[in-house]
Amino acid sequence: MEHTDINKSIDAFKSSLDKSKKIVGFTGAGISTESGIPDYRSKGGIWDKFQPVYFEEFVSDEKKRLLYWQRKQELWKDLSAASPNTGHMFLKRLYDEGKLAGLITQNIDGLHEKSGLAKELIVNLHGTNLEVACIDCGFTVPSEEVFEGLDLEDGVPVCRECGGLMKPATISFGQQLRSADLDRANDLARSCDMMIVVGSTLVVQPASSFPSIAKENGALLAIITLSETPLDCSADFVFHLKVEEFLRLL
Ligand SMILES: [Zn+2]
Repeated sequence: MEHTDINKSIDAFKSSLDKSKKIVGFTGAGISTESGIPDYRSKGGIWDKFQPVYFEEFVSDEKKRLLYWQRKQELWKDLSAASPNTGHMFLKRLYDEGKLAGLITQNIDGLHEKSGLAKELIVNLHGTNLEVACIDCGFTVPSEEVFEGLDLEDGVPVCRECGGLMKPATISFGQQLRSADLDRANDLARSCDMMIVVGSTLVVQPASSFPSIAKENGALLAIITLSETPLDCSADFVFHLKVEEFLRLL
């Protein structure tokens, strides 16, 4: 795209942003890479290198359960040290201006919570690493309580309420997305007047259906993602830029 073209698109985006009253953000791994969180699905990412532990294996196989916790313990070191970046703060600013109706994310890093967005506005489609929950009774504790001083040689954490298995509150392979979260995301997509996709390639279903639903229900759709997406042709604004680059132009 020519330089003047992109400036024109940025201006048009700005004026739509000003007019919008109910914006919903939709974020994927690309928004967090600047915070040092790797894109797990990309080549060389964790899921490329390691065989995933399926939920069924977590429940039935002690060795797999330990392996799962060892990986989560490694990951927690990165996650607890990570801070929100300009991309997260852009959405936080919309929230401060009273324009953000909700935020749907595919990420499990908790950086939107850390940016100061109200927890009840966030739909964590794939769960969150900020909490650890009992898979039997649902008893939940903040992750730092569990990981602080965790020694897996003593065994994996169990629920202090019912003795059941504790697991970071993310959706594992072989585990269904929570229907309450899907319903909330669906409602947000249907009721917003603008959806802004940041850092998602929109290829993972059903998460990626929400931008389509928003568009079909009359919302403007903006996509800010480095690579092409299947929805580029139907979007009102498409910026194939890194988030921070886009925000510099804005
Ligand atoms: Zn329990």
